[in-house]
Amino acid sequence: MHVESTRTLLLTQGYEPIQIISWQRALTLLALDKGEVVDEYDTEVRAPSVIVRIPSIVRLRKAFRRYAKPVKFSRVNIYARDGYRCQYCGAKCTIAELTYDHVIPRSKGGRTTWENIVSACYACNRRKANRTPAEAGMKLLSVPARPTWMPSVQIRVSARSVPDAWRDYVYWTGEIESEEGGAD
Ligand SMILES: [Zn+2]
Repeated sequence: MHVESTRTLLLTQGYEPIQIISWQRALTLLALDKGEVVDEYDTEVRAPSVIVRIPSIVRLRKAFRRYAKPVKFSRVNIYARDGYRCQYCGAKCTIAELTYDHVIPRSKGGRTTWENIVSACYACNRRKANRTPAEAGMKLLSVPARPTWMPSVQIRVSARSVPDAWRDYVYWTGEIESEEGGAD
């Protein structure tokens, strides 16, 4: 990775992506205690007295003004809608511990929409497998719906230039359909 061209994704306090900034500006936000590191690259840079790793994602500490736009259909917004809880067992999870689940599996015609995607822990996701909740004997804690809160600023990035760490934060453009791991 070229240090000069490294960019940092800036999130609101509510984990919505708002801007792509230079890593220098990201370090400034951290130095001013206006932001906190969510994720970082392996790349290190030498500041005058210390060596620091370049942050790949920084979250603002203070609430950011919200805009009246529809909520982006993204993995993190799904998690936020569900309160970072597995919608089957109710476990409170970190982003890393969550995946998404198609309530009606895609193989049975289920679609990738707000109404058919819920947050799930990996254990429940595995247990449910390619079945409906009824078939799996599992009960949803809430009926998934399109959220009406938390509109965000849209960030467009080309698929090729997206650092891995950003993928949970930038919104889906359909590539989730071919993603390995979660789903169903
Ligand atoms: Zn669970």
